Amino acid sequence: MRINPNQQPLWRTPFEMQLGTGKDSVILKNLTNAQERMIAALYNGIADQQLSHITEQLGLTNDESKRLVESVGEVMLTESPAKPNKIKLGDDFIAGAFAEIIRASLLHSVDGEAVLLGRAERSVHVDDLSRAGLQICLGLAAAGIGHLISHDEAKVDKANLGPTGFPSQLIGQPRLDALRSILAASPNKALVSTGKKLAKNRLQKIDCAVLVSHQVIDPRRYATWNNRDVPHIAVTFDAERVWVSPMIVPGQTACLFCLEQMRTDADSSWPVIATQLLTSQKRFDDAASQLFAAGIVIQKILSRVDKVAGFEQAAENLSGFSLELATGAVSEFTWPKHEACECVAKD
Ligand SMILES: [Zn+2]
Repeated sequence: MRINPNQQPLWRTPFEMQLGTGKDSVILKNLTNAQERMIAALYNGIADQQLSHITEQLGLTNDESKRLVESVGEVMLTESPAKPNKIKLGDDFIAGAFAEIIRASLLHSVDGEAVLLGRAERSVHVDDLSRAGLQICLGLAAAGIGHLISHDEAKVDKANLGPTGFPSQLIGQPRLDALRSILAASPNKALVSTGKKLAKNRLQKIDCAVLVSHQVIDPRRYATWNNRDVPHIAVTFDAERVWVSPMIVPGQTACLFCLEQMRTDADSSWPVIATQLLTSQKRFDDAASQLFAAGIVIQKILSRVDKVAGFEQAAENLSGFSLELATGAVSEFTWPKHEACECVAKD
């Protein structure tokens, strides 16, 4: 039994203690000296068979000790549901991923390193490695995702350089190699592979795919992931907003074809307009839009892959979000399955 060390012990008054600062925080009133020492022991961890011995040593009755343990249940670590694997996190990586480990531990009430070890076995496909795609990849690597895959074959050009893009020295290199070089210079040794060399069955096993686009997404790009039954998430930058779709799980949630159908219902000229926007060279991934999108996408992917590893996912996680640049308003959005879409027929 161990209280999650990331739920900080705080004193509200000299006699009242608070464990943790979030919604699971526990307040303990009128603590005796013995109870206070019992809490300290629980922060260090107590083996089940030691409990009665420690209770006796502190001069507590079995009942008192049992009640105290029950009262801190919300902040106790639980056993990790992830299967043990052979991967080990390097010391440098652990030192740099301090906040990731704390966050993972608070999210799932388990040892944070166990969550990151689960992520080391996950693979994510990012189809476009321009700035936004790069930021998403770097964030995923920072959070412990072990394998990044892309079919991006473009080279780093002037438009990809900058403080939120690639460093100038990497100009002219394939973007995939440039991403690999950036990661190689950090303690996070995420593997970077080209999707072209992966066998079909490996592509089907990708945990999640990210589609990055401006204004509209070419339907062929999401048809691929729909057909492979791979969950995917779409980022779209447009003239007013940046959109991050909900995690689309083929066969379960509404899909991006449903969204297109819905738009056509709302404006019958939409398909004609969309075709023109598809060939537009305009870019809308300004720094604010790019970093907002990367933050939301990373959170959604981690939530998804942690779920695959056996950790719980909150139901609220099923919405998409958009940021309106003019007003700063962040809005939640989802869409229903469209009756004309093939995904309804599969139900
Ligand atoms: Zn659909």
